[in-house]
Amino acid sequence: MRVPIILALTLVSALAAQEVRHPRVEALVQSVDAKRLQATVAKLVSFGTRNTLSDTASDTRGIGASRKWLAAEFDALESGSGSRLQPFEDRFTAEPGPRIPKAVEIVNLGVVLPGTDPARMKDAIVLTGHYDSRASDVLDATSDAPGAVDDGSGTAMALELARVLAAERPAVSIYFVAVAGEEQGLVGSSHLAKRLKSEGVRVLAMVSVDIAGNTEGQDGVKDNVHGRLWSEGVVASETPEQRKLRLALGTENDGGAREWARYVKRVAERYVENLDLLVMLRRDRIARGSDHMSFASEGIPAICLREMHEHYDRQHQDVRTVAGRSYGDDLAHFDAAYAAKLAKGLAATFWELSHAPAPPGDVTLGGAVSPDTRLRWTLPVDPRIVGIRLYRRRADGVVWQRVQSFPKFDRLVLKDVPPDNEVFAVATVDAQGNESLAVAPSRLE
Ligand SMILES: [Zn+2]
Repeated sequence: MRVPIILALTLVSALAAQEVRHPRVEALVQSVDAKRLQATVAKLVSFGTRNTLSDTASDTRGIGASRKWLAAEFDALESGSGSRLQPFEDRFTAEPGPRIPKAVEIVNLGVVLPGTDPARMKDAIVLTGHYDSRASDVLDATSDAPGAVDDGSGTAMALELARVLAAERPAVSIYFVAVAGEEQGLVGSSHLAKRLKSEGVRVLAMVSVDIAGNTEGQDGVKDNVHGRLWSEGVVASETPEQRKLRLALGTENDGGAREWARYVKRVAERYVENLDLLVMLRRDRIARGSDHMSFASEGIPAICLREMHEHYDRQHQDVRTVAGRSYGDDLAHFDAAYAAKLAKGLAATFWELSHAPAPPGDVTLGGAVSPDTRLRWTLPVDPRIVGIRLYRRRADGVVWQRVQSFPKFDRLVLKDVPPDNEVFAVATVDAQGNESLAVAPSRLE
């Protein structure tokens, strides 16, 4: 193949070229319903506690009652008109551990929207919210633990996004899962990640939506515009050989999770007005975590979506009032309109990535100690690929600053662009403009 040589001067900033909204996706985004999110969170709160160790016999209180209700809701989505959703359940017994005094049954439940590309039957993307909740004492199975925002918000989004996308025909499968055992040490999602891996499911990207519905922070700041995408830069499963290459390539800011976070920001903000998502250059907040870490441990690009300003009086607190100050994760502090805004961003993102072609492989960078950058990659066998997109940013940048479209090349030479000062990644694109995750170099020429 002729090597396309690109002159730096011809590379105008072309991010605007991507700002096309698909009418279909716009309609889906607009159908995200804040009232449904509100109703789901209110219902979840009504079960009193959803602590993983709480009652499972009652139909009105405890994690068992909430699980039965969620199962019925997912069932209803499966049998809805035009729905392609299929049931999904991941049920197992968690053995005693630091936060599990005696063996307890954990049930992760949800639906799968099956992919339609026969060559990619095992490719999937995953969204989770955790439906378990907790009081001040994580082992307290009886006190009220309403868990409206943590994580009624994420659970409601899993249900709502499954409803919105139920009739779509994506290339790859989408799992919408309400997981349990998060507060008990991520035990539900850990089992789920390992199970999918053992079944040969290749998870391209995963997001845990956790604490994504409160708009008044502990600091008093009110903010319904921003959200945070927590993403690790370096995969936890990195081998010594990969580490050596990463250091040589300078790609510590370009692991799979980081590219996934940039993708979510890019697509979500294209479809949702007054939404600004921050690509946080951290796996999570200080000394805290969520279910994305279970997937990250398996080498999967996994991120966590959270509100911008948390209110710590509302997290992991018994419901009470002390000296006029109220504590507890109650319904009154869940902002459904804000949660809907985040859900709209995710709906667009999940639609585009699930419809996009397979990503490039083995991206190789060359040109060290020379004035030109050389990039090559392997193109997957996917007849829908019509072109590639090259992402660029200066090496001091957080998000991509330039993007340029090319035909279906498998290599590029960037004349007069030394590789030292910029970062590059390559994505595949189909005729409708649906784009794969961008892939940074993992090999050195
Ligand atoms: Zn949580």
